[in-house]
This record gives sequence, C-alpha cells and structure tokens, in this order.
Amino acid sequence: MQSWQLRERAREILAKEVGYVSKPHGGRLRVALAFPNTYFVGMSNLGFQTVYKLFNAEDDIVCERVFLPPKTELAAQLTSGAPLITIESQTPVNEFDVFAFSVSFEWDYTNVVTLLRLAGLKTRAAERTARDPLVVIGGAVTFVNPEPLAPFADVIAAGEGEALIPSLLTAFKGACDRDDLLRRLAADRGFYVPGFYDVNHTADGGIEAFVPRLGTGAPPVVKKAALKTTDTVDPPATTIFTPDTELGSRLLIEVVRGCANLCRFCWAGYNYLPVRAFPKDRILQRAGHARQYSHRAGLVSIALCDHPDIEEILTQLVDMGYSISPASLRLDDLTPTILELLRRSGERTITIAPETGSDRLRRVINKTVTNAEILAAADMIFASGFDNLKLYFMIGLPTETDDDLVAIRDITLQLRDTMLRHQRGRGHLGRIVGSVNPLVPKPGTAYQWLPMEDDRSIDRKIKRVRSLMGGIDNVYFNIKSERHSFYQALLSLGDRRVADAIEAAERNGGNWRAAVAETGVDADFFVFRDRSTDKVLPWDIIDGGLKDHFFRSEFDKGLREEWTLPPKRQKENARLLPVLQ
Ligand code: SF4
Repeated sequence: MQSWQLRERAREILAKEVGYVSKPHGGRLRVALAFPNTYFVGMSNLGFQTVYKLFNAEDDIVCERVFLPPKTELAAQLTSGAPLITIESQTPVNEFDVFAFSVSFEWDYTNVVTLLRLAGLKTRAAERTARDPLVVIGGAVTFVNPEPLAPFADVIAAGEGEALIPSLLTAFKGACDRDDLLRRLAADRGFYVPGFYDVNHTADGGIEAFVPRLGTGAPPVVKKAALKTTDTVDPPATTIFTPDTELGSRLLIEVVRGCANLCRFCWAGYNYLPVRAFPKDRILQRAGHARQYSHRAGLVSIALCDHPDIEEILTQLVDMGYSISPASLRLDDLTPTILELLRRSGERTITIAPETGSDRLRRVINKTVTNAEILAAADMIFASGFDNLKLYFMIGLPTETDDDLVAIRDITLQLRDTMLRHQRGRGHLGRIVGSVNPLVPKPGTAYQWLPMEDDRSIDRKIKRVRSLMGGIDNVYFNIKSERHSFYQALLSLGDRRVADAIEAAERNGGNWRAAVAETGVDADFFVFRDRSTDKVLPWDIIDGGLKDHFFRSEFDKGLREEWTLPPKRQKENARLLPVLQ
C-alpha cells in the first residue's frame, strides 16, 4: 500500500469514531501507542483504551494510536516500505518520542516485532540508537513475565498504567539524554530496563542471577507499580466508540479490579490484588455519559460481584436502558437479584467456571465451590429464565486421574438435567457449551514451578474427554489442542532466549515448530522442566508482591487437598499483600 492510501484509510477510520483525541504536537511528549493486533481487535480492548485515555489526560502528552494492518495488506505494506503511521495525525511512528505497546496476549508477541519492522526500527533494543523512539512495552503479560519480550524493549512497564504514566512523563521532563532517561526510569518503581542487566546462567541452563550493570543504578528486582486505592479514580471505560470492532459500539467499563479467591493456577487473581472497587457514582456517571453512543454495557472484572454496590449498579444500568454482559461470574456470587437484573437487560447465557468436575480436584486447585453449589447455582440460573450455560474446564491439573475426567462428564450431565427440567414444555431447549483447556502453569502463581503435563498424556486426556462428551444432546464441547497450549506455555514460561524463536515465527508466518527448530530454542526445557529447585525464575526480576514461601505453601496445601478459603474479602486479603507497601 502506498503512503497516501494509508493516510486515506486512517481518515476513514476517524470519520466513523466518536471520542478520539487530537492535540497539536508542539511542545508535548509524543507517544505512538500500539496495540499489537488489528484495529478490529484492539478497539475492543479496555486496557488499550484506558492507556490511551491516561496518556492524553496529561496536558504535556499527545498520544496517538497504531495498529497492525489487516492480514491481507500486511505483506504489501512491509515490501512497499510505506512507513507505519498513527491514526490521529497520520504521522510516521519513527517521528514520535515514545513507541508504547499495550500487550495483553502471548500470541501477539510476533506482532510486536512486525510493528517495530513496519515502523522502520531495528527490532532489538541493543541495535537502536538514541534518535529512535523509546520503545516501552507494557500490558498485562509484561508484569507477569516480561523476559521473552525483553530484548525488544528499551523499557518494560510493569504494573498499572494509572501508576506508571505520570512517572514516565516526569522522567522525560527531567532527563538530559537517553542514558539519563533510562537511569531515571530504572530508579523508579515499575520500570524495568532489560539492557541494564546481564543474565547469568547455571550449568543446567537455568538462571543463576540477574546482575545489574555497574553505573546504571538498576535495582536487583523491579517492584510492580499499582494503584493503592481506586476510591478517587475514574473507572477505566471505553472512550472511543466505533462500530468497526469485535464488540461493536459497546461501553466496556471496569467495575472492580482483582479477585480474592486465590485459585492456585490463576495469574490474574494473584497479580491484581488487592481487590479494589471503583466508586459506584463514577461508574454510573461514565455510563450515563456514554449512553448516547451505546446501549450495551460490557462489565469487565474478574470478580464483578465483589463490588459492594453491584446490585445498585446493575439496577441503574438497566434503568438507563443498557443491556449488560458480564465478562464472567463467580459462582459464589450469583444471587437471584443479580440474575434477574441480567435477565431483564436481555442476557440469555451465563458463563461460569467449574474448572474441573470433582470436588476433590477443586480443593487441589483452590476453586472453593462444590458440585452441590454448582448445581444449586444452575438451578437458580435456569429458574431465572436463562437459555444457555457456558462452562470452562481445565485438564492436566496436579493429581488429576481418569476419575476426574469422568467427573467432568458427570457434572455436565447433571447440569443438562437441571436445564431440561426448567425448559421442558418450552418451545425450544438451550445449550450447554463447554470449553476445555490444558493447564499452562503460569508465572506468579502457586504453579509457577510446575512442568506442563507431557504431550502424550495431554493428548490422551483430550481424546478421553472428547469421547466422554460426544453424542450428548444439547451439549457442545470445544477442546483446545495440546500443541496450541505448548507454544503458549513457551511464551509464558520462557526467558530472553525465547526472543529468537519469536523473531523466527514472525518471519515465517507463525510456524512455531519451524521457528523453534531453526533457532535451536529448547522449547521442552522451558515447558516440561520441573523448576522447583531453580534458584531464580525468569520472572523473578519483577517483584509482584507475593512471596515464594506463600506460593510454595499454597502448592503444598493443594497436594493435601486443602482449601485456602477466600478471605471475605478485602481486609484479610490485604494481609497477604506486601504488593503495595
Ligand atoms: S475465581 Fe479463581 S480463577 Fe476466577 S478470577 Fe478469581 S482467582 Fe481467578
């Protein structure tokens, strides 16, 4: 595509949008903010929209957006050499001071590399110069394990945008040159400068130590930056509305951050602690303002009902005329009132996550509900008039046996019976849709030392679940392949050496098997190794607040099939949280 065509397309995008920000560049810090996927996907990402708003809320910053071109145009754009331009002012990205990335998913890592190439930049930080924009990579995945992306970043932003953006601006204002800027950022909470560290390895290929380079002032570990309280903060919400996105012109709004349940596999639960609710009045004010652009509200929270005013919030959103979709609901939070409000707003499906079929295995992973409670919740759901139930399950969990797989079938059959009992006599029956994923042990959880279950065993379990679930009327199961999870695990659990494979996969169009073979990256080493005796884990460079001994004791409790009951909720929870001290 030619440059004029790219500019034309950017202007067409703006013509359909409401709420974008256009500021003069003069005298301001210029930030090109990239979502490493297409416009269609990125504009439905609340984290991306929030960072855009936070940057532009600073008078001294102008932030403009950049996306990956659609697949059909990508190759042409790469060969044409037409520079990557921002949507708002159609300025080439390499003229900006900062090229920032908001990365939410491991599968987008190759797109980070593509965007750097499209911008005409060297992909490796070590090969760029002080004249290039400062490449800052942030987003949910980077504060869990930034290492696979570390060689591409000048700076990794570890933590929540609300806490990081003001510090970034202050550092820019005070710095006399690029080195000074990096030193200032490295001294600040939440900024990790990978180039300031040497990584020493042990004889068996693990990590011996991250060694800060002399004279950089870089700390031995980087503390994550997070908001202490959300009491006086506007809830993150959609600010740019466009019909051209995955979720259409839907108002996405964050109601509460974090979840106190402490499921042992869940990185989101552990990493967004403590649970912080956004003020009810501010949520309703934002929703009231956005009503002229949208009639659908997507409530983005991993534990929606931990908000003390959730019933009032839902009532008022329904009264404003919104239809509401919650991201997911925790079983122990479902009440007849909440279900009735969701039903009134037009919702027909409820999504819940039993994770596994047996109470025993749920005790292992600390999912603190029982089959009896799940069935009681389903009874309430179908009695409230919902048509369908969506279920999330995992396989490959510690101590799992064939009985646990059979238990997935059994609980699904019981849920189906409950559905049929309520829907008998109606014109049509609903569906139960299950999704089964192999466990990918995640950094920053009680399973961070665990190897992923080996491929033959997972394959066998996938086949077993398929055969158990086949041919049941009104029940549909989607089961992820082992290979898909294997490469996701490589990106989750890897260290800097995995960057070679990311670059190769970017070059070859996403063929991970070939990328790993070509670069000699030992994927099995990262995915299938027991890390319990490793001195240092790749993600230990970021201090998320929770300590190793806590994770180890949680893992051991799991093997004893003991729950850590969710502290109800915030006071107790705060006790576990050195994060904010
Ligand atoms: S209930 Fe468990 S899995 Fe769900 S968000 Fe909370 S900690 Fe994570």
